[in-house]
Formats: sequence, C-alpha cells, structure tokens
Amino acid sequence: MERGRFRCHHFGAPARHNGMVMTCSQCGFTYGAHPRTEVAVEIERYGTEFARRMGRDTHLLRFRPAADVWSALEYACHVRDVLLMQRDRLYVALVEDTPSFKPMYREERVSFDRYQDQDPSYVAVQIVMAARLFVNGLHGLSALQWRRPLMYGYPEPQQRDVEWMAHHTLHEAVHHLGDVDRQLKAA
Ligand SMILES: [Zn+2]
Repeated sequence: MERGRFRCHHFGAPARHNGMVMTCSQCGFTYGAHPRTEVAVEIERYGTEFARRMGRDTHLLRFRPAADVWSALEYACHVRDVLLMQRDRLYVALVEDTPSFKPMYREERVSFDRYQDQDPSYVAVQIVMAARLFVNGLHGLSALQWRRPLMYGYPEPQQRDVEWMAHHTLHEAVHHLGDVDRQLKAA
C-alpha cells in the first residue's frame, strides 16, 4: 500500500499487530475475524453499500472537505479500482509462486481517470460489478489455493497468502465506506 500525500484516512496510522491478529486503528477492522466463506459475501455486500451511497446528490458526492482530502465519489472510484487490481493479483498468485505486485498508483489514478468528473450512477454499477468479479474468483478457490503465498506491501512488505489478501480487500471496502460516510456527513 503506497503512502500518499492525501489525508484520506487511508491506512495512515499503523495497524496494531499481535501475531496473526491485526486490527486497523482507524476503522476497527480485524483481519481474520470473518471465516473465508464470509469474506466474499461481505465484499459483495459492501459493493452494494457503495452503490447505494452513489445515489446521493452529486454535489455532496463531489464535496472535498479540504483540498487534499478525497470526496466520497473519489473514494468509491478508488475502491472500484482496488477491487479490479485485487482480482488480477489473485489470478497471478494462483499461477506464480510468491509473486510481488506492482503498485496501483492510487494517487495518480485520481487525475488519470478523472475520478471527480465521473458519473456516480456509472460508478455505482461499476463498483458492484468489480466486487462481483473479484469474489467470483474467491468462490472457486480450493483449500490449497487459499494458502497460495504472495508478497504484499501493507503495512510493510512481507509474505502473505491469498486468504490474507481477501481479508485485506474487505478491509479496503470497510475502511473506505467509513470515509465515504464521513465525507457525506461533513458535506
Ligand atoms: Zn481500516
């Protein structure tokens, strides 16, 4: 996970570690709290939750509480792109042994893909689809495939496995839905 210049509540504070247990100090998400079968269901549910938020007034969705803080729409676009990234990373990890992944350049995408100009009703459809595309891969995993090793950069580079990456993807959704709700409240 790249560190950015944006104060976007993006996993900025260090997570608390206790062996395998890791809890986000900002949103309270605990890795491993959900059985793996539930992770996919939850990711899909969060896709729907984001889509519901995209039905709010476009003016509210584009509101940035400060120049360097993402809007609700920008957070939703980010999570959509994370889901698409994670889908590709999943399939790479099922083929390659302990792969490392290229960063997604999340800050750059905000301008490259013009997140703020996107139509929230399209983003709603896209995020639901992105969630479904990712979880479709999870639904087909064997016990061995859940354990496939990979290198991941968050919170510091270390070896993880496919199951951890699935939990981390759910964390992205949980964490940033909190950001979206905060922005909508502040608007
Ligand atoms: Zn979090």
